[in-house]
Amino acid sequence: MAKIFEENAYRKEIETEIKEINTQNNTIELKDTIFYGKSGGQPGDLGEIIADGQKIDVRETIKVDNSIKNILENINGLNINQKITARINWDKRYKYMRMHSALHLMCASIPLGVTGGQIGYEKSRLDFNDPEKKINKEELQKKINELMKQDHEIIYEYIDSKILESKPELVRTMSVKPPKIDGKLRFVKIGNVDFQPCGGTHVKTTKEIGEIKIGKIENKGKMNRRVNILIND
Ligand SMILES: [Zn+2]
Repeated sequence: MAKIFEENAYRKEIETEIKEINTQNNTIELKDTIFYGKSGGQPGDLGEIIADGQKIDVRETIKVDNSIKNILENINGLNINQKITARINWDKRYKYMRMHSALHLMCASIPLGVTGGQIGYEKSRLDFNDPEKKINKEELQKKINELMKQDHEIIYEYIDSKILESKPELVRTMSVKPPKIDGKLRFVKIGNVDFQPCGGTHVKTTKEIGEIKIGKIENKGKMNRRVNILIND
């Protein structure tokens, strides 16, 4: 299965074939896919499958081991090897790409350990280990918006997984498990701002994120603080 979203997060539609059908839970797997499977705090893509002129809703996309499964509204009339058109809900996905990229900027702006995270359509969040309450809302918002305006390019680099063993500090974000190809892990590089392994979908430059606003900073227990972020659209 080629996971097209890993190299090109901007593909909205593809022609492909059905590789597998599970009649028990209305789930299919495609030969190639543009659907991101729910994982690492990023929601799975929604969208539709068009087969013989019939549109079927994709209600959820999940990641099972190394494959991406689409849960459909129904699987009536679908066959293995059938040619179909797959289309993602771009409005949702693009927002997740911008949110996800914004969380990288947040992570890079706060030199504290990350303990959790979630991407959403209206708001997203990262949790930090911040017992001394060092995070300042106004400063953080200003910093991220400056990084956004500086228009840093976001690219991918494939690096030997052994590098990670010698530099474990590189892993500090939302634990989106990075794709591993021939012993190499995918790293996301945002200009000279952020560099870490990540399997999520991102925009091409920080300017595409748009202006952000830091929402509530909530205390979650003694150590953790949850920082919410919104995009001003
Ligand atoms: Zn990422």
